[in-house]
Amino acid sequence: MATSSANVDLDGNPIRPLTICMIGAGGFIGSHLCEKLMVETQHTVLAVDVYNDKIKHLLEPDSLPWANRIQFHRLNIKNDSRLEGLIKCSDLTVNLAAICTPADYNTRPLDTIYSNFIDALPVVKYCSENNKRLIHFSTCEVYGKTIGSFLPQDSPLRQDPAYYILKEDTSPCIFGSIEKQRWSYACAKQLIERLIYAEGAENGLEFTIVRPFNWIGPRMDFIPGIDGPSEGVPRVLACFSNNLLRREPLKLVDGGESQRTFVYIKDAIEAVHLMIENPARANGHIFNVGNPNNEVTVRQLAEMMTKVYAKVSGEDSIENPTIDVSSKEFYGEGYDDSDKRIPDMAIINKQLGWDPKTSLWDLLESTLTYQHRTYAEAIRQSIAKPVAS
Ligand code: NAD
Repeated sequence: MATSSANVDLDGNPIRPLTICMIGAGGFIGSHLCEKLMVETQHTVLAVDVYNDKIKHLLEPDSLPWANRIQFHRLNIKNDSRLEGLIKCSDLTVNLAAICTPADYNTRPLDTIYSNFIDALPVVKYCSENNKRLIHFSTCEVYGKTIGSFLPQDSPLRQDPAYYILKEDTSPCIFGSIEKQRWSYACAKQLIERLIYAEGAENGLEFTIVRPFNWIGPRMDFIPGIDGPSEGVPRVLACFSNNLLRREPLKLVDGGESQRTFVYIKDAIEAVHLMIENPARANGHIFNVGNPNNEVTVRQLAEMMTKVYAKVSGEDSIENPTIDVSSKEFYGEGYDDSDKRIPDMAIINKQLGWDPKTSLWDLLESTLTYQHRTYAEAIRQSIAKPVAS
C-alpha cells in the first residue's frame, strides 16, 4: 500500500501544512480523521459539529502536542452564518455531516433528504465561490441494486462480475420506487454528487467525492441505552455489538442474506489522508473506498462477530445466537435493500496506490475488543439497576 511520507506527496513534491475545515468532525469517520491528522501530520483542523464527545481526547488538555492545530466550532450547518467564514479561511473543506443511519431513511425521509442534500448546498456554494477545494463524503448506496439482481435466480450471469462489481465511472445507480423511502438517502447523495460534479465542470470547483463501502471500527455510532437513546437503532456493527454485550440474539433482517464488504476504519482513513495530500491526483475524481476481499452476508457477519466476541470477552456465546426478523418489523414501512456491494478498486489504486489490508476477522477483533472494554461494565451496571416501580 502506498503511504504518504511526512513531508512529500506521491510525486515527491513537498507537502505544505494545510488548514482544513472538517464538517461533521465529531462523528465516527471525523474522529478518526482528526486523530490521524493530529498525530501524523502538521495540518490544522477547524472541527465543525454539533457534538464533540468522540474528539474530546484530541481537544483537551491544552498541553496536547497538537493543541494549537485543532479548534472545535460547535455549530449546526443548517443555520449558522459562521460557516462561510470558516470555509473562506481554510485551504480545504472535508464535508462529513449527514444523517446516515438506515433506520432513519424510511422513518425520517424529510430529515434525511434535507441533511444529505439541502444542508450540503451552502458548503458546495461557498467552496465554489471562494475557489476552495472540497472533499465530499457520499456513499456506496448511490449504486443502489446491482444489475445482476434483476436477472433470473438461476441465471449463470449472476456469477459474472460484470453484473455486480460497482465501478465509479460506468455503473448505473438503480433505486427502488418512490414509496420505498429507504432510497431517500441514496437519492439525496446522488443529487449532491451530480451538483458537485457540475460545479467542477461549469465553474472549475476542485472536488473529490468519496464513496465509503461500510467502514467500521471503534467509536461507530452508539450503544442504545448507554451513550445513545434506548430506543435508537444504530448501524449494523453497533446493533450487533449491543446484542452481544447484552447477551441477546443478533437480529437478522429478512434472513440476513444481503451481502456487504467491510473495511477497517484505519485502512480507509489512510485513503482519505492520501486524497488530502495529493490534490493533483485526487481532484475531479470519485473514489470507491472499501475492501472487496472482506465480503460476507449479514448472517455470516453475525456468526463471525459472535465467535470473535466470545474470544475477546472470554464468555461463551448464548445457545441461539441469531433470530430472524422481518424488515417491516425492524425498520418499518418503506424499507428496501441493495443485494450486494463490491467496490471496483481500479481508480483509487491507479490514482493513489491505495489498497486496504486488514482482514474481516482482524478488524472485528480489534473493534469488539474496544466495544467490550468501553461498554461491558456500563451494560452490566445498567442491567443490575433495579427498575423504578
Ligand atoms: P456520523 O453520523 O458518525 O458522523 C456525522 C457527523 O455529522 C455527526 O457527528 C453529526 O453530529 C454531524 N452533523 C450532522 N448534521 C450536522 C449539521 N447540520 N451541522 C453540524 N454537524 C452535523 O457518520 P460517519 O459514519 O462518520 O459518516 C460520515 C459521512 O460518511 C456521512 O456523510 C456518511 O453519509 C458517509 N458514509 C459513511 C459510511 C460508513 O461506513 N461509516 C458509509 C457510507 C457513507
